[in-house]
Amino acid sequence: MEGSKCEVCGELKDVVVAGVPYIAYSASFCATCLKSNAIPYFLAVSNTAAIGGLQNADDGWKDIVTCTINLLGKSLEEFTIDVSSWQTELPADDISF
Ligand SMILES: [Zn+2]
Repeated sequence: MEGSKCEVCGELKDVVVAGVPYIAYSASFCATCLKSNAIPYFLAVSNTAAIGGLQNADDGWKDIVTCTINLLGKSLEEFTIDVSSWQTELPADDISF
């Protein structure tokens, strides 16, 4: 059996489907990513944007974000830029929850 694409690191490996903490979404994780506490990058960015930035996150979410950017070799600055560009793409009065 050939592997599937891990949604966190993007590599073709044996993956398992697991729920993403904090988010109603199931993603494919390879064993390394599942153990690392990292999640798919776009989810880390979009969910952080949805709560108005990392300063509004609890420790558990901050930890997930840290693990995710460390695993992907991104800096916190890059992540913050991605979050703010995500926020500007959202129409402000279109948030209904
Ligand atoms: Zn992976």
